[in-house]
Amino acid sequence: MLKPNARYADLKDSYLFNTVYRKTAEYLAANPGKKVYRMGVGDVSLPLCPAVIEALHAAVDDQASARSFHGYMPEVGSPELRRAVSAYYAGFGASVSEDEVFVSSGACDDLCDILELFDRDNRVLVTEPAYPEYVDTNILAGREIVRLPAGEENGFLPLPDAGTKADIIYLCSPNNPTGAAYDRRGLKAWVDFANDREAVIIFDAAYEIFVEDPEVPHSIYEIEGAKRCAIEICSLSKTAGFTGTRLGYTVVPKELCRGGMSLNAMWSRNRETRTNGVSYILQKGALAVFTDGGQRQIRANIAVYKANAARFMAALDEAGIRYTGGKNSPYIWMKCPDGQSGWQFFDRLLNDIQVVGIPGDGFGECGKGYFRFSTFGSPEDTREAADRLCRYLKGGERP
Ligand code: PLP
Repeated sequence: MLKPNARYADLKDSYLFNTVYRKTAEYLAANPGKKVYRMGVGDVSLPLCPAVIEALHAAVDDQASARSFHGYMPEVGSPELRRAVSAYYAGFGASVSEDEVFVSSGACDDLCDILELFDRDNRVLVTEPAYPEYVDTNILAGREIVRLPAGEENGFLPLPDAGTKADIIYLCSPNNPTGAAYDRRGLKAWVDFANDREAVIIFDAAYEIFVEDPEVPHSIYEIEGAKRCAIEICSLSKTAGFTGTRLGYTVVPKELCRGGMSLNAMWSRNRETRTNGVSYILQKGALAVFTDGGQRQIRANIAVYKANAARFMAALDEAGIRYTGGKNSPYIWMKCPDGQSGWQFFDRLLNDIQVVGIPGDGFGECGKGYFRFSTFGSPEDTREAADRLCRYLKGGERP
């Protein structure tokens, strides 16, 4: 008789965002004419930049003629896009060759698929609060998961110690949800630990483009020794507004070997089995991101989100509230005032000042009592939400 994967029953309901949507919709239904300022969801609001749009249109036209038509693409990605990503890494001072770059349909897909490189019998370490996919994918695979708490005591950037035991280590920097980002020293401690224990780091660099502090690496490969222990997963979702267009890339270094096997060769083989490649059209659109014009245009969009974050941080500073993130990250993470739970604070902000954020509970136990704001919204809404929040936190004044 067929046996389903019973571990699905061990997953927590994805009630967080559903509840946020439901409560917001209920509020709007009960308060017609009110506007809600959505500062929660981590989706971008600006459209694709003109260089990408132009490249996408041209690629569609290529598909209309037998002379320029493309069928299946290489499973690992087009050589020109792999080369462009490799050159992008060189810009950080990280040496990544084009055959170490694998084009994907986004970070989410590869965060899941990459686990096929590892036996079930490995212990997984997740710093928590965490992006939920790290935990869920490993629950489904039946792996043991240990949580390393990130909190105020370690600046939300925990480090390994002699008692840390892990084979697969998830690091996300700049972090979703806390916005905290490891500096070179912190990442070096993890790289040394992983090399020492023959563990593998899965480094989620989805927010690298937000890094502005020179002490914070964009890529783990800026750290000596990282190519012997780390896989890096990245995405154009937040970098270039590809959340609905879908394209990412994963780096698996050729030096990374475990148990006598090359993870780069295994991942190439995995791609041949798992995918028939990312569409020609999307890869052409992605290629435009890495041109000079594309880089100027996407960075102009990032500057808009950064100005939003600055506005939000100024509001919290004025209200005397401590937070992490905002500087190297589009997320701002704060403790809920007066010992409120995440959902109590959510309800108050929605009802009193019509600002919607995300209770930290959705990111694991350590997120309880915290709150995440995203600065991906429009400048107008962000300004208004920040002003409302500042007045509210200062003295409870309601608009
Ligand atoms: N990793 C982190 C930390 C994220 O926050 C997200 C999306 O929000 C992803 C990965 C998934 O990105 P993608 O849209 O490329 O699947």
